[in-house]
Amino acid sequence: MVSRPTRLAPPLECVRLYDLGSGLDGIIAIHSRTLGPGAGGCRLWSYPDLDHALADAIRLAEGMSYKNALAGLPLGGAKAVLRKPEGAFDRVALFRAFGRAVEALGGAYITAEDVGTTVADMQDVASATRHVAGLPSAAGRAGGDPSPWTARGVFESMQAAARFALSTDLAGLTVAVQGTGNVGADLCRRLADVGARLIIADPNPTRRDRLAAVHGARVVDSHEIATVEADVFAPCALGGALTRAAALGLRAKLVCGAANNQLASPDVADLLMDRGITYAPDYVVNAGGIINVSAEYLGEDENAVEARVSAIAPRVAALLDRAARERRSPAVVADEMAEEAIACAERVAA
Ligand code: NAD
Repeated sequence: MVSRPTRLAPPLECVRLYDLGSGLDGIIAIHSRTLGPGAGGCRLWSYPDLDHALADAIRLAEGMSYKNALAGLPLGGAKAVLRKPEGAFDRVALFRAFGRAVEALGGAYITAEDVGTTVADMQDVASATRHVAGLPSAAGRAGGDPSPWTARGVFESMQAAARFALSTDLAGLTVAVQGTGNVGADLCRRLADVGARLIIADPNPTRRDRLAAVHGARVVDSHEIATVEADVFAPCALGGALTRAAALGLRAKLVCGAANNQLASPDVADLLMDRGITYAPDYVVNAGGIINVSAEYLGEDENAVEARVSAIAPRVAALLDRAARERRSPAVVADEMAEEAIACAERVAA
């Protein structure tokens, strides 16, 4: 989402979470509830102070409003951000306390996994509230870790965007993947399966080195990955990967990845366009996870998830095509479409 003045209201609610006994310390930001309850994952991260956590929560919640609207989901945008306690802590107690906080909002906020949280954490949350998804599911039902759905949406979007921007399939292309966590690792596997060459970076060697061994991926330092010689750059770590400097140094002709809030500042969207680099907007391509979360919460089956995730790549192709025809950044066009979807629902509700 390109952070520029929009027609959307500022965050409706920011709830401070603090529980001395468990170490819970964070924020739930609910940005929009026009289309439905605010939905977005729960991030556990080491923030230097509360201001940084608050800024992240608001930015991520806003991004969820845009993502959910453009994916056609009956959900508003929200996010929980928890400060990771220093040293050892009781994880179960912390997520149970978080669950009680979610329950206190009475369904205004639906949570799930995000960076730093797991299916097991959400099971602890579920001991205190039903307003949680990302839980293990029965066969055929939607649920479980949303990451594979996110990776699939990113992969199919990358295929569509490569055909559009590079006039070729992914076979034989070189893809630089920043971050080999849950989504990045799954994306790498899919890319290797279709014959793409991989360059990967992650400060955590666990998955990175296994991927390198299995798929013959070249490993580079984290600070190099955005500027290596590659056809596609796939940011799959944290947000803000595309600073002005990174965008100026980028050698790839296509950016398509899972990370939220990839553009460090709004002007980077135009900078990429000026440099002839196609940007597949983050929240359009990475909607697979929230689509799975939404279906689980609404009690739908996997076929519903399958159908909606399969619609992501055609949406990306149409978006890139429209942006090119209008000579505007795909990021700006996507924002307009999301804002229009929310404004339309506001008019209907008024
Ligand atoms: P994850 O925590 O499993 O993986 C993130 C990885 O990035 C980690 O391995 C971490 O070591 C690595 N990393 C951190 N800083 C890095 C750097 N500077 N360079 C390279 N690697 C770095 O998270 P995930 O679930 O794979 O999500 C990845 C991104 O996708 C996040 O931005 C997340 O918000 C976004 N996203 C995830 C989902 C989902 O379903 N999991 C859905 C939508 C968006």
